Amino acid sequence: MKTVRYLLPAALSFCCCLGMAQQRAYVLPPNPLPYDLLLQGGHVVDAKSHIDGIRDVAIKDGKVAAVAEHLEAKDALKTIDVKGFWVTPGLIDIHTHVYAGTGERNSYAGDNSVYPDGFTLRNGVTTIVDAGSSGWKNFPDFKDKVIDRSITRVLAELNIVGSGMRGSKYEDDLDDMDGKTTGEFALKYPGVIVGIKSAHFTGPEWKPYEQAVIAGNVANIPVMIDYGARRIERPLDDLVTKYLRPGDIYTHCFSGNRGEQDPKTGGPSKALMDMRKRGIYCDIGHGGGSFSFSVAAPIMASGYHPDSISTDLHITSMNGSMKDILNVADKMILLGETIPEVFAQMTANPAHEIKQDQLGNLSVGSVADVAVFSEEHGTFGFFDMFGAKDIGQVKLVCELTIKSGKIVYDLNAIEFDKWDAPKHSSDPALAGHWTTFSERPFGSQSSARWPSWIPPSQRKTVETGPPDVYNMKTPEEKKSPR
Ligand SMILES: [Zn+2]
Repeated sequence: MKTVRYLLPAALSFCCCLGMAQQRAYVLPPNPLPYDLLLQGGHVVDAKSHIDGIRDVAIKDGKVAAVAEHLEAKDALKTIDVKGFWVTPGLIDIHTHVYAGTGERNSYAGDNSVYPDGFTLRNGVTTIVDAGSSGWKNFPDFKDKVIDRSITRVLAELNIVGSGMRGSKYEDDLDDMDGKTTGEFALKYPGVIVGIKSAHFTGPEWKPYEQAVIAGNVANIPVMIDYGARRIERPLDDLVTKYLRPGDIYTHCFSGNRGEQDPKTGGPSKALMDMRKRGIYCDIGHGGGSFSFSVAAPIMASGYHPDSISTDLHITSMNGSMKDILNVADKMILLGETIPEVFAQMTANPAHEIKQDQLGNLSVGSVADVAVFSEEHGTFGFFDMFGAKDIGQVKLVCELTIKSGKIVYDLNAIEFDKWDAPKHSSDPALAGHWTTFSERPFGSQSSARWPSWIPPSQRKTVETGPPDVYNMKTPEEKKSPR
């Protein structure tokens, strides 16, 4: 009955269209080889392991199996030539807003958020952190609506406001900021709730930051601060020297909105310098109003670079000056960073900031989240929150994204064989080991899908014949009406 099992990958793809996927369990034949997938000849940047050079990367069972100067193609089900491309751990974006689907207008716990998968995988991002769109009261709904349904690994920084980011009426409500309750709630979701967020507060009080740190201490997770309205009652330098702890994260660090820039020199303010001295991380959090060339350029020219690049993805930033994480990285490159440096700021660094060091690297045994990028050279314009622009010469383009060992995005079809190729370069029946895209198994499709070069006399190579994919009910299902 071996041949019947080989029918099922094709059948499954049809069944998915018909909403019948759960009705047939497909058992993937085991892979007898050492590796499922081999990426050969790329320039690997793995900041955690200090790798910055040409390497092959092998993947087996969703994990990184080997990284070496040469690995044999015969040991892998599938080998992809990535010469001339950058190969990095899957990117990590620690400031996003993805609590979509509640229907609430003008709310980050609603319409201001976006569903993640359309913005992440095509940019090489495999892990994102929602930055406080939900608080402890609505986190279970967020988890159900988005976290549990996304291909992207979605983590969360829980808002110190119990109701989350639903607008100023909620976000300025000091009575809904309870550090102990928030911290204890976070402990129920270890590895999913990875931080506490304070954002958008307009009042003069210190309470949001005090309570956020209490929650962070209870759950042993970092606090990320969007410092809200600039108030003379709470200067930035006091926040970073008296309230935040080493390991906390200051986002929107190049906005210039709250005293990040020294007004005389244009370089980093005393607060920004104190932040770094104390081990508080500087995160970009580009968003719609938090990145200005007139702030970032002189600060970076002084040698002060961010620790992490994040997008602050939401419905406005997605089509504005931010666009996507690679566009933000391109801006950092034009301001003087190297490509390996921006990759570190989107992989190992953010993983470390959220205390998830198992992510963002290609160490053997770690989860095989991998991204492949090409580098375009030309004249490219980039604008900021004030509509001011600068010109760069480099653009990163995501070619391939692998999540947990399987390809989930492939810009230029580099994994595939040409449609009229005489034979597959790998066994299509085993493709489920290394890709989420189905390959057309030889001799196992309905007649309309037989490749034209297979003579009709050879089209009955399986004992049951081509499947009737539109009527694939089990005998039990056929007995019971729909
Ligand atoms: Zn934000």
